[in-house]
Amino acid sequence: MAEYTPKERLSRVLTGQPVDRMPAVCVTQTGTVEQMEACGAFWPEANYDAEKMATLAEAGHTVVGFEAVRVPFDITAEAEFFGCEIKDGTQEQQPSVIGHVVKTMEDIENLKGYDLSNGRINVVCDAIKILADKYGDELPIMGSMIGPFSLAQHINGDEWFMAIMTNEEFGLALMEFTTEFNVAYAKKMVENGADTMVIIDPTASAQLIGNEFYEKFVVPYHKKICDAMHELNVPVVLHVCGDTTLGLSLMETCGVDGISVDQNVDAATAVGNVKNAVIVGNLDPVNMLWNQTPEAIKEQSQKVVDAGIGLLAPGCGTVSKTPTVNLQAMIEVAKSHKY
Ligand SMILES: [Zn+2]
Repeated sequence: MAEYTPKERLSRVLTGQPVDRMPAVCVTQTGTVEQMEACGAFWPEANYDAEKMATLAEAGHTVVGFEAVRVPFDITAEAEFFGCEIKDGTQEQQPSVIGHVVKTMEDIENLKGYDLSNGRINVVCDAIKILADKYGDELPIMGSMIGPFSLAQHINGDEWFMAIMTNEEFGLALMEFTTEFNVAYAKKMVENGADTMVIIDPTASAQLIGNEFYEKFVVPYHKKICDAMHELNVPVVLHVCGDTTLGLSLMETCGVDGISVDQNVDAATAVGNVKNAVIVGNLDPVNMLWNQTPEAIKEQSQKVVDAGIGLLAPGCGTVSKTPTVNLQAMIEVAKSHKY
């Protein structure tokens, strides 16, 4: 079978075409302290400066060996764009959202008319441009963003779950708003050279809100993003945290190409629960990739691959203190696997 560039290989896997072997990619955040030390671009600066962000993303390929580059490393730039208060990250920790800006329908109206050329989302687009100029012919350029449900939670706060149960009009209006933003932002990432879109929507889980609410408050919105990306021939991978086993068939109805599942999901069951979506995952980032030996990681990787997983990868964001050799153990198993 023909040899493919990493870019062709991943694109073919996500669109259901045959390939020579499994690509070695990470759809969740890739930044680690060892990579920062190797390339000289450190958090927190690499979250705010496009050159440094691109340099650290590049280290995922040049230092670790992933066959893709991916930005950003956190999921707060979107809430920050809308004025939410952010707790700065450190060298080892990502920033987090601590203040919320939307309580009412009027608050949503007041956020409309935003200018996408402002804020840190632009830093992400600039980093994508740098990476695409350098690697765009060869490697997949993954753009990642928080998904509309978790963004709604970021800008509304902890009452978001109560809001969707008790105030449908408000809940749907906020989902419309965040989704419209997501579509515009994703298109801008693609204009800058992203060829693969990753939606990180940690709390958009049928396990948390039930199938009925998931169908109403999540599926149509994820579908809008997927449709917009597919018009541009960009495949979409969706990551949701926790045990998504029973929600997978519903998640898939939005048209997503890949679903990234975490370590709470049994890989074989996940593969059996979807029709077309490529299942991505699901090594435990803490108890396996950070804290185990390369030998143990290879063994677990082989189990996951034997279970039929489509893309072997961390089950959630890589822990910043993860040793490079541990990630390389996973990569070795991925690259040696023929479907
Ligand atoms: Zn996760």
